[in-house]
Amino acid sequence: MFLADGRYNFCGNVDVLEVIEEYGCPLYVYDYDIIKRQYNRLAKAFDGTSLKINYACKSLTNVNILRLIRQLGAGLDAVSIQEVKLGLHSGFLPDEILYTPNCVSFEEIEEAVGLGVKINIDNISILELFGQKYPDYPICVRINPHIMAGGNSKISTGHIDSKFGISMYQLPLVERIVKATGMLVEGLHMHTGSEILDSEVFLNGAEILFHAAKSFDQLTYLDFGSGFKVSYKDDGIETDIEDLGEKITKRFKAFREEYGKDLTLKFEPGKYLVSEAGYFFVKTNVVKQTTSTVFAGVDSGLNHLIRPMFYDAYHKILNVSKPQAKSRIYTVVGYICETDTFGINRKINEVQEGDILCFKNAGAYCYQMSSNYNSRFRPAEVLIYKGQSHIIRKRESFEDLLKNQVELPELTQATVEV
Ligand SMILES: *Cc1c(COP(=O)(O)O)cnc(C)c1O
Repeated sequence: MFLADGRYNFCGNVDVLEVIEEYGCPLYVYDYDIIKRQYNRLAKAFDGTSLKINYACKSLTNVNILRLIRQLGAGLDAVSIQEVKLGLHSGFLPDEILYTPNCVSFEEIEEAVGLGVKINIDNISILELFGQKYPDYPICVRINPHIMAGGNSKISTGHIDSKFGISMYQLPLVERIVKATGMLVEGLHMHTGSEILDSEVFLNGAEILFHAAKSFDQLTYLDFGSGFKVSYKDDGIETDIEDLGEKITKRFKAFREEYGKDLTLKFEPGKYLVSEAGYFFVKTNVVKQTTSTVFAGVDSGLNHLIRPMFYDAYHKILNVSKPQAKSRIYTVVGYICETDTFGINRKINEVQEGDILCFKNAGAYCYQMSSNYNSRFRPAEVLIYKGQSHIIRKRESFEDLLKNQVELPELTQATVEV
Protein backbone atom coordinates (compact mmCIF):
# COMPACT_ATOMS: atom_id res chain seq x y z
CA MET A 1 0.00 0.00 0.00
CA PHE A 2 2.85 2.43 0.68
CA LEU A 3 5.89 3.29 -1.38
CA ALA A 4 9.25 3.46 0.40
CA ASP A 5 8.86 7.21 0.90
CA GLY A 6 5.46 6.78 2.47
CA ARG A 7 3.30 7.67 -0.51
CA TYR A 8 0.28 5.55 -1.36
CA ASN A 9 0.66 2.99 -4.07
CA PHE A 10 -2.48 0.97 -4.50
CA CYS A 11 -2.61 0.54 -8.26
CA GLY A 12 -0.03 -2.10 -8.97
CA ASN A 13 3.37 -0.48 -9.22
CA VAL A 14 2.03 2.83 -10.40
CA ASP A 15 2.44 5.96 -8.31
CA VAL A 16 -1.06 7.42 -8.15
CA LEU A 17 0.11 10.99 -7.61
CA GLU A 18 2.07 10.80 -10.87
CA VAL A 19 -1.01 9.42 -12.62
CA ILE A 20 -3.06 12.34 -11.30
CA GLU A 21 -0.34 14.76 -12.32
CA GLU A 22 -0.53 13.37 -15.83
CA TYR A 23 -4.31 13.11 -16.33
CA GLY A 24 -5.69 15.69 -13.92
CA CYS A 25 -8.50 15.62 -11.36
CA PRO A 26 -11.18 14.47 -10.77
CA LEU A 27 -10.16 11.08 -12.10
CA TYR A 28 -11.43 7.52 -12.11
CA VAL A 29 -8.66 4.91 -12.07
CA TYR A 30 -9.21 1.15 -12.52
CA ASP A 31 -6.69 -1.51 -11.65
CA TYR A 32 -7.06 -4.49 -14.00
CA ASP A 33 -5.16 -6.82 -11.67
CA ILE A 34 -7.95 -6.51 -9.10
CA ILE A 35 -10.64 -7.34 -11.67
CA LYS A 36 -8.62 -10.39 -12.66
CA ARG A 37 -8.15 -11.41 -9.03
CA GLN A 38 -11.89 -11.19 -8.39
CA TYR A 39 -12.80 -13.11 -11.55
CA ASN A 40 -10.37 -15.89 -10.74
CA ARG A 41 -11.51 -16.09 -7.14
CA LEU A 42 -15.12 -16.50 -8.22
CA ALA A 43 -14.24 -19.04 -10.91
CA LYS A 44 -12.17 -21.04 -8.43
CA ALA A 45 -14.92 -21.07 -5.80
CA PHE A 46 -17.24 -22.83 -8.24
CA ASP A 47 -14.70 -24.91 -10.12
CA GLY A 48 -16.41 -28.16 -9.23
CA THR A 49 -19.13 -27.52 -11.78
CA SER A 50 -19.57 -26.08 -15.25
CA LEU A 51 -19.72 -22.39 -14.48
CA LYS A 52 -20.26 -19.39 -16.71
CA ILE A 53 -19.76 -15.89 -15.35
CA ASN A 54 -21.67 -13.17 -17.14
CA TYR A 55 -20.36 -9.73 -16.25
CA ALA A 56 -23.21 -7.33 -15.33
CA CYS A 57 -21.85 -4.49 -17.39
CA LYS A 58 -24.20 -1.79 -16.12
CA SER A 59 -21.73 -1.42 -13.24
CA LEU A 60 -18.93 -0.23 -15.56
CA THR A 61 -19.22 -0.26 -19.33
CA ASN A 62 -15.99 1.19 -20.60
CA VAL A 63 -15.28 -0.95 -23.68
CA ASN A 64 -11.69 -1.62 -22.60
CA ILE A 65 -12.98 -3.11 -19.37
CA LEU A 66 -15.48 -5.17 -21.37
CA ARG A 67 -12.69 -6.51 -23.61
CA LEU A 68 -10.47 -7.42 -20.67
CA ILE A 69 -13.29 -9.17 -18.85
CA ARG A 70 -14.13 -11.10 -22.01
CA GLN A 71 -10.50 -12.21 -22.25
CA LEU A 72 -10.84 -13.63 -18.75
CA GLY A 73 -13.59 -15.89 -20.09
CA ALA A 74 -16.75 -14.07 -19.09
CA GLY A 75 -19.97 -13.56 -20.99
CA LEU A 76 -22.12 -10.46 -20.58
CA ASP A 77 -25.28 -9.52 -18.74
CA ALA A 78 -26.88 -6.54 -20.48
CA VAL A 79 -29.98 -4.68 -19.31
CA SER A 80 -30.49 -2.39 -22.28
CA ILE A 81 -30.13 -2.67 -26.04
CA GLN A 82 -27.33 -0.11 -25.81
CA GLU A 83 -25.40 -2.37 -23.44
CA VAL A 84 -25.99 -5.25 -25.86
CA LYS A 85 -24.48 -3.15 -28.64
CA LEU A 86 -21.52 -2.10 -26.50
CA GLY A 87 -20.94 -5.79 -25.76
CA LEU A 88 -21.05 -6.74 -29.44
CA HIS A 89 -18.78 -3.81 -30.24
CA SER A 90 -16.31 -5.09 -27.64
CA GLY A 91 -16.14 -8.52 -29.25
CA PHE A 92 -18.66 -10.57 -27.28
CA LEU A 93 -20.46 -13.04 -29.54
CA PRO A 94 -24.27 -12.79 -29.57
CA ASP A 95 -24.40 -16.16 -27.87
CA GLU A 96 -22.31 -14.83 -24.98
CA ILE A 97 -24.72 -12.03 -24.14
CA LEU A 98 -27.84 -12.42 -22.02
CA TYR A 99 -30.15 -9.47 -22.42
CA THR A 100 -32.30 -8.98 -19.30
CA PRO A 101 -34.66 -6.07 -19.90
CA ASN A 102 -37.34 -4.80 -17.55
CA CYS A 103 -40.28 -2.71 -18.74
CA VAL A 104 -38.73 -2.00 -22.14
CA SER A 105 -40.74 -1.77 -25.35
CA PHE A 106 -41.37 -4.91 -27.39
CA GLU A 107 -39.58 -3.18 -30.27
CA GLU A 108 -36.38 -3.15 -28.20
CA ILE A 109 -36.75 -6.86 -27.53
CA GLU A 110 -37.26 -7.46 -31.25
CA GLU A 111 -34.05 -5.55 -31.92
CA ALA A 112 -32.27 -7.98 -29.60
CA VAL A 113 -33.77 -10.88 -31.58
CA GLY A 114 -32.32 -9.27 -34.70
CA LEU A 115 -28.90 -9.16 -33.06
CA GLY A 116 -29.17 -12.82 -32.06
CA VAL A 117 -28.42 -12.46 -28.36
CA LYS A 118 -29.94 -14.54 -25.60
CA ILE A 119 -33.10 -12.98 -24.17
CA ASN A 120 -34.39 -13.15 -20.63
CA ILE A 121 -38.12 -12.51 -20.34
CA ASP A 122 -39.53 -11.10 -17.12
CA ASN A 123 -43.16 -10.43 -17.85
CA ILE A 124 -46.16 -12.62 -18.78
CA SER A 125 -47.52 -10.35 -21.51
CA ILE A 126 -44.12 -10.16 -23.20
CA LEU A 127 -43.75 -13.91 -22.93
CA GLU A 128 -47.06 -14.41 -24.70
CA LEU A 129 -46.29 -11.94 -27.46
CA PHE A 130 -42.78 -13.29 -27.89
CA GLY A 131 -44.04 -16.87 -28.09
CA GLN A 132 -46.53 -15.94 -30.80
CA LYS A 133 -44.00 -14.05 -32.91
CA TYR A 134 -40.79 -16.00 -32.30
CA PRO A 135 -41.71 -19.53 -31.22
CA ASP A 136 -38.37 -20.88 -32.47
CA TYR A 137 -36.15 -18.41 -30.62
CA PRO A 138 -34.88 -20.04 -27.40
CA ILE A 139 -35.44 -17.93 -24.30
CA CYS A 140 -34.63 -17.60 -20.65
CA VAL A 141 -37.36 -16.83 -18.09
CA ARG A 142 -36.70 -14.56 -15.14
CA ILE A 143 -38.42 -15.77 -12.02
CA ASN A 144 -39.16 -13.67 -8.97
CA PRO A 145 -38.49 -15.95 -6.00
CA HIS A 146 -40.00 -13.48 -3.51
CA ILE A 147 -36.99 -13.17 -1.31
CA MET A 148 -36.38 -9.92 0.51
CA ALA A 149 -32.67 -9.31 0.38
CA GLY A 150 -30.21 -6.73 -0.68
CA GLY A 151 -28.36 -3.83 0.86
CA ASN A 152 -31.28 -1.40 0.58
CA SER A 153 -34.73 -1.13 -1.00
CA LYS A 154 -33.43 0.41 -4.23
CA ILE A 155 -31.31 -2.64 -4.98
CA SER A 156 -33.61 -5.34 -3.66
CA THR A 157 -35.16 -6.87 -6.72
CA GLY A 158 -36.55 -10.23 -5.67
CA HIS A 159 -39.21 -9.45 -3.09
CA ILE A 160 -42.95 -9.90 -3.51
CA ASP A 161 -43.86 -6.41 -4.70
CA SER A 162 -40.75 -5.90 -6.81
CA LYS A 163 -41.27 -5.06 -10.48
CA PHE A 164 -38.70 -7.65 -11.57
CA GLY A 165 -39.31 -11.14 -12.85
CA ILE A 166 -42.34 -13.37 -13.20
CA SER A 167 -43.74 -14.42 -9.85
CA MET A 168 -43.02 -18.02 -8.99
CA TYR A 169 -46.75 -18.31 -8.29
CA GLN A 170 -47.39 -17.61 -11.97
CA LEU A 171 -45.26 -20.52 -13.14
CA PRO A 172 -48.29 -22.62 -14.17
CA LEU A 173 -49.27 -19.76 -16.46
CA VAL A 174 -45.75 -19.67 -17.92
CA GLU A 175 -45.96 -23.40 -18.58
CA ARG A 176 -49.33 -23.00 -20.35
CA ILE A 177 -47.96 -20.24 -22.60
CA VAL A 178 -44.84 -22.23 -23.39
CA LYS A 179 -46.93 -25.26 -24.30
CA ALA A 180 -49.43 -23.30 -26.37
CA THR A 181 -46.80 -21.48 -28.40
CA GLY A 182 -44.24 -24.29 -28.58
CA MET A 183 -41.44 -22.02 -27.43
CA LEU A 184 -38.18 -23.36 -26.10
CA VAL A 185 -37.13 -22.36 -22.59
CA GLU A 186 -33.39 -23.01 -22.39
CA GLY A 187 -32.67 -21.09 -19.21
CA LEU A 188 -34.21 -20.03 -15.90
CA HIS A 189 -32.97 -16.93 -14.12
CA MET A 190 -33.34 -15.10 -10.87
CA HIS A 191 -31.59 -12.08 -9.40
CA THR A 192 -32.61 -11.29 -5.87
CA GLY A 193 -30.70 -8.05 -5.46
CA SER A 194 -27.39 -6.70 -4.46
CA GLU A 195 -25.31 -7.15 -1.36
CA ILE A 196 -26.51 -10.42 0.06
CA LEU A 197 -24.38 -11.59 2.95
CA ASP A 198 -25.77 -14.96 3.85
CA SER A 199 -25.10 -18.12 1.86
CA GLU A 200 -28.45 -19.44 3.09
CA VAL A 201 -30.29 -16.71 1.19
CA PHE A 202 -28.67 -17.92 -1.98
CA LEU A 203 -29.44 -21.51 -1.17
CA ASN A 204 -33.11 -20.76 -0.48
CA GLY A 205 -33.36 -19.00 -3.81
CA ALA A 206 -31.57 -21.87 -5.47
CA GLU A 207 -34.14 -24.34 -4.20
CA ILE A 208 -36.91 -22.27 -5.74
CA LEU A 209 -35.13 -22.25 -9.09
CA PHE A 210 -34.44 -26.01 -8.89
CA HIS A 211 -38.08 -26.63 -8.14
CA ALA A 212 -39.17 -24.48 -11.08
CA ALA A 213 -36.66 -26.17 -13.36
CA LYS A 214 -38.46 -29.49 -13.03
CA SER A 215 -41.30 -28.07 -15.12
CA PHE A 216 -39.03 -27.35 -18.11
CA ASP A 217 -37.30 -30.30 -19.73
CA GLN A 218 -35.06 -28.53 -22.25
CA LEU A 219 -33.01 -26.34 -19.97
CA THR A 220 -29.29 -25.94 -20.60
CA TYR A 221 -28.53 -23.41 -17.87
CA LEU A 222 -29.68 -21.98 -14.56
CA ASP A 223 -28.71 -18.39 -13.85
CA PHE A 224 -28.57 -17.28 -10.23
CA GLY A 225 -27.98 -13.61 -10.94
CA SER A 226 -25.77 -11.77 -8.54
CA GLY A 227 -25.83 -10.11 -5.17
CA PHE A 228 -22.27 -10.75 -4.11
CA LYS A 229 -21.29 -8.15 -1.59
CA VAL A 230 -17.81 -6.74 -1.38
CA SER A 231 -16.47 -4.97 1.68
CA TYR A 232 -16.72 -1.19 1.56
CA LYS A 233 -15.38 -0.55 5.03
CA ASP A 234 -12.41 -2.91 5.19
CA ASP A 235 -14.37 -4.73 7.87
CA GLY A 236 -14.51 -8.09 6.13
CA ILE A 237 -18.31 -7.91 5.80
CA GLU A 238 -18.70 -9.48 2.40
CA THR A 239 -20.18 -12.54 0.76
CA ASP A 240 -18.14 -15.59 1.70
CA ILE A 241 -17.56 -16.75 -1.86
CA GLU A 242 -15.65 -19.89 -0.96
CA ASP A 243 -18.36 -21.05 1.44
CA LEU A 244 -21.07 -20.21 -1.08
CA GLY A 245 -19.15 -21.91 -3.87
CA GLU A 246 -18.82 -25.10 -1.91
CA LYS A 247 -22.48 -25.21 -0.88
CA ILE A 248 -23.96 -24.26 -4.23
CA THR A 249 -21.64 -26.54 -6.19
CA LYS A 250 -22.64 -29.51 -4.07
CA ARG A 251 -26.34 -28.79 -4.35
CA PHE A 252 -26.10 -27.98 -8.06
CA LYS A 253 -24.40 -31.27 -8.85
CA ALA A 254 -27.08 -33.17 -6.97
CA PHE A 255 -29.78 -31.34 -8.87
CA ARG A 256 -28.10 -32.06 -12.20
CA GLU A 257 -28.26 -35.76 -11.40
CA GLU A 258 -31.91 -35.41 -10.56
CA TYR A 259 -32.64 -33.39 -13.71
CA GLY A 260 -30.83 -35.96 -15.82
CA LYS A 261 -29.15 -33.48 -18.18
CA ASP A 262 -26.05 -31.39 -18.23
CA LEU A 263 -26.71 -27.88 -16.94
CA THR A 264 -24.48 -24.84 -16.77
CA LEU A 265 -24.45 -22.78 -13.61
CA LYS A 266 -24.43 -19.07 -14.33
CA PHE A 267 -23.81 -15.99 -12.22
CA GLU A 268 -23.82 -12.38 -13.28
CA PRO A 269 -21.77 -10.25 -10.92
CA GLY A 270 -21.07 -6.60 -11.50
CA LYS A 271 -19.95 -5.13 -8.21
CA TYR A 272 -17.95 -8.21 -7.22
CA LEU A 273 -15.75 -7.95 -10.29
CA VAL A 274 -15.13 -4.23 -10.54
CA SER A 275 -16.00 -2.37 -7.33
CA GLU A 276 -12.67 -2.74 -5.55
CA ALA A 277 -10.69 -2.20 -8.77
CA GLY A 278 -11.84 1.43 -8.95
CA TYR A 279 -10.50 4.53 -7.24
CA PHE A 280 -11.91 8.01 -7.58
CA PHE A 281 -9.47 10.87 -7.02
CA VAL A 282 -10.54 14.43 -6.27
CA LYS A 283 -8.74 17.57 -5.23
CA THR A 284 -9.55 19.48 -2.06
CA ASN A 285 -10.59 23.00 -3.02
CA VAL A 286 -11.36 24.32 0.43
CA VAL A 287 -11.07 23.36 4.03
CA LYS A 288 -13.84 25.11 5.87
CA GLN A 289 -14.02 25.25 9.59
CA THR A 290 -17.44 26.15 11.01
CA THR A 291 -18.47 26.30 14.63
CA SER A 292 -19.39 22.64 14.55
CA THR A 293 -17.66 20.93 11.67
CA VAL A 294 -14.53 20.84 9.56
CA PHE A 295 -15.53 20.46 5.95
CA ALA A 296 -13.24 19.32 3.17
CA GLY A 297 -14.81 20.63 -0.04
CA VAL A 298 -13.61 18.84 -3.17
CA ASP A 299 -13.73 19.40 -6.92
CA SER A 300 -16.52 16.88 -7.44
CA GLY A 301 -19.98 16.09 -6.18
CA LEU A 302 -23.09 14.04 -6.76
CA ASN A 303 -22.55 14.65 -10.46
CA HIS A 304 -19.56 12.27 -10.39
CA LEU A 305 -20.23 9.94 -7.49
CA ILE A 306 -23.87 9.74 -6.44
CA ARG A 307 -23.88 6.52 -4.43
CA PRO A 308 -23.36 8.19 -1.03
CA MET A 309 -26.34 10.51 -1.65
CA PHE A 310 -28.52 8.05 -3.56
CA TYR A 311 -28.01 4.91 -1.50
CA ASP A 312 -26.31 6.22 1.63
CA ALA A 313 -23.40 4.16 0.37
CA TYR A 314 -20.16 4.23 2.30
CA HIS A 315 -16.96 4.89 0.39
CA LYS A 316 -13.74 4.92 2.34
CA ILE A 317 -11.87 8.21 1.89
CA LEU A 318 -8.07 8.60 2.08
CA ASN A 319 -5.81 11.62 1.80
CA VAL A 320 -3.25 10.37 -0.70
CA SER A 321 -1.20 13.55 -0.50
CA LYS A 322 -0.51 13.08 3.21
CA PRO A 323 -0.06 9.36 3.90
CA GLN A 324 1.86 10.03 7.09
CA ALA A 325 -0.01 12.99 8.56
CA LYS A 326 -1.98 12.77 11.79
CA SER A 327 -5.68 12.18 11.30
CA ARG A 328 -8.53 14.57 12.04
CA ILE A 329 -12.28 14.37 11.61
CA TYR A 330 -13.76 15.79 8.40
CA THR A 331 -17.05 15.93 6.64
CA VAL A 332 -16.27 15.60 2.96
CA VAL A 333 -18.61 17.49 0.64
CA GLY A 334 -18.87 18.31 -3.05
CA TYR A 335 -19.14 21.56 -4.99
CA ILE A 336 -22.68 21.06 -6.28
CA CYS A 337 -25.38 23.55 -5.33
CA GLU A 338 -27.30 21.01 -3.39
CA THR A 339 -26.24 19.13 -0.29
CA ASP A 340 -23.85 16.55 -1.63
CA THR A 341 -22.12 14.93 1.29
CA PHE A 342 -19.70 12.12 0.52
CA GLY A 343 -18.99 11.24 4.12
CA ILE A 344 -19.78 12.62 7.57
CA ASN A 345 -17.25 12.71 10.41
CA ARG A 346 -14.55 10.70 8.69
CA LYS A 347 -11.13 10.18 10.17
CA ILE A 348 -8.76 11.33 7.44
CA ASN A 349 -5.09 12.33 7.51
CA GLU A 350 -4.94 16.10 8.02
CA VAL A 351 -6.25 17.74 4.86
CA GLN A 352 -4.86 20.92 3.36
CA GLU A 353 -6.26 22.76 0.39
CA GLY A 354 -4.86 21.17 -2.76
CA ASP A 355 -4.59 17.68 -1.26
CA ILE A 356 -5.77 14.74 -3.32
CA LEU A 357 -8.43 12.58 -1.70
CA CYS A 358 -9.29 9.09 -2.86
CA PHE A 359 -12.65 7.31 -2.70
CA LYS A 360 -12.26 3.56 -2.61
CA ASN A 361 -14.60 0.96 -4.15
CA ALA A 362 -15.23 3.32 -7.05
CA GLY A 363 -15.36 0.75 -9.84
CA ALA A 364 -19.04 -0.22 -9.80
CA TYR A 365 -21.96 2.18 -10.32
CA CYS A 366 -19.77 5.25 -9.93
CA TYR A 367 -18.61 6.65 -13.27
CA GLN A 368 -21.59 4.88 -14.78
CA MET A 369 -24.06 6.95 -12.77
CA SER A 370 -22.29 10.26 -13.37
CA SER A 371 -24.00 13.22 -15.02
CA ASN A 372 -23.47 16.76 -16.24
CA TYR A 373 -25.43 18.33 -13.40
CA ASN A 374 -24.39 21.95 -12.77
CA SER A 375 -22.94 21.78 -16.30
CA ARG A 376 -19.82 20.13 -14.99
CA PHE A 377 -17.75 17.78 -17.12
CA ARG A 378 -17.72 14.08 -16.44
CA PRO A 379 -14.26 12.92 -15.29
CA ALA A 380 -11.69 11.00 -17.31
CA GLU A 381 -11.12 7.28 -16.82
CA VAL A 382 -7.68 5.66 -16.60
CA LEU A 383 -6.83 1.97 -16.69
CA ILE A 384 -3.79 0.49 -14.96
CA TYR A 385 -2.83 -2.49 -17.10
CA LYS A 386 0.47 -4.36 -17.10
CA GLY A 387 2.04 -1.77 -14.83
CA GLN A 388 1.17 1.14 -17.11
CA SER A 389 -1.51 3.80 -16.99
CA HIS A 390 -3.72 4.31 -20.04
CA ILE A 391 -6.37 6.90 -20.64
CA ILE A 392 -9.56 5.00 -21.57
CA ARG A 393 -12.04 7.88 -21.55
CA LYS A 394 -11.25 11.51 -22.10
CA ARG A 395 -12.45 14.16 -19.73
CA GLU A 396 -15.45 15.98 -21.18
CA SER A 397 -15.04 19.46 -22.57
CA PHE A 398 -17.18 22.52 -23.18
CA GLU A 399 -18.06 21.22 -26.67
CA ASP A 400 -19.63 18.16 -25.07
CA LEU A 401 -22.03 20.38 -23.14
CA LEU A 402 -23.23 21.93 -26.39
CA LYS A 403 -22.98 18.85 -28.60
CA ASN A 404 -26.65 17.91 -28.78
CA GLN A 405 -28.15 21.29 -28.09
CA VAL A 406 -29.91 22.80 -31.07
CA GLU A 407 -29.32 26.54 -31.12
CA LEU A 408 -32.19 28.41 -32.72
CA PRO A 409 -30.78 30.95 -35.19
CA GLU A 410 -33.23 33.67 -34.20
CA LEU A 411 -31.99 33.44 -30.62
CA THR A 412 -28.30 33.64 -31.41
CA GLN A 413 -28.34 37.37 -32.35
CA ALA A 414 -26.08 39.47 -30.17
CA THR A 415 -29.02 41.35 -28.70
CA VAL A 416 -32.25 39.62 -27.93
CA GLU A 417 -35.35 41.72 -27.42
CA VAL A 418 -37.15 40.90 -24.25
C1 LIG B 1 -27.57 -5.21 -11.57
C2 LIG B 1 -27.74 -6.61 -11.95
C3 LIG B 1 -26.73 -7.54 -11.67
C4 LIG B 1 -25.45 -7.18 -10.95
O1 LIG B 1 -25.59 -6.87 -9.60
P1 LIG B 1 -24.29 -6.60 -8.70
O2 LIG B 1 -24.80 -6.32 -7.36
O3 LIG B 1 -23.55 -5.46 -9.30
O4 LIG B 1 -23.44 -7.81 -8.77
C5 LIG B 1 -26.93 -8.83 -12.11
N1 LIG B 1 -28.06 -9.19 -12.76
C6 LIG B 1 -29.04 -8.33 -13.05
C7 LIG B 1 -30.24 -8.78 -13.78
C8 LIG B 1 -28.92 -7.01 -12.64
O5 LIG B 1 -29.92 -6.14 -12.91
